[in-house]
Amino acid sequence: MKILIVEDERRLGQFLKQGLTERSYTATWVSTCREARDALCETGYDAIVLDLSLPDGDGLDLLREWRKSGFNEPVVILSARDAVEDRIKGLDLGADDYLPKPFSFEELLAHLRALLRRQSAMKQTLMEHRGLRLDLLSHTVHLDGQPVDLTSREYALLEIFMQNVGRVLTRTMISEKIWDSHYDVDTNLLDVYMSRLRGKLEAPPEKVYFKTVRGIGYQMV
Ligand code: CA
Repeated sequence: MKILIVEDERRLGQFLKQGLTERSYTATWVSTCREARDALCETGYDAIVLDLSLPDGDGLDLLREWRKSGFNEPVVILSARDAVEDRIKGLDLGADDYLPKPFSFEELLAHLRALLRRQSAMKQTLMEHRGLRLDLLSHTVHLDGQPVDLTSREYALLEIFMQNVGRVLTRTMISEKIWDSHYDVDTNLLDVYMSRLRGKLEAPPEKVYFKTVRGIGYQMV
């Protein structure tokens, strides 16, 4: 389970990272909005622990941004602002949980466990996006009601994009998930697969699903 901690209080950030690591979570700790954006662009997380008052911005703005771009991993807000209005605002913006400071570490763990359980129970088996429909149980893909014949790699590639609609996925992130490895996959291979997938799904200029983000990766739109 990968957890991203966004917290600018050095001592608390270190404590959380260490505590979560000891409980066998993979924890990444960042302390600014900018670092949080970079971290999320780089890889996916199973949950995010988000402080609100950050040196370069407000955690609530970060959350709004993420939810708007279709990023739906669970977020626990961690904040000294325990006013009811702040709590409501956070939840309205799409936070899944709110833990006022000070809190006990065991309490945070319990909240995280509950969130992760809830998320896996709700994990969708049917994903739809602009006429595209991907069924995780039957491993089938339909485009405007018509079945599409995809190879297993093309299917895996599409699944990652459907789970991250609107998010820019880096080449490294895609390659690691598809080829299940950390060594440098020949990135031309990824382009080959992308162009096959495009050929099977897109009918430009009206129907375009993938945007190439130069130097970074791809984005499903
Ligand atoms: Ca803070």
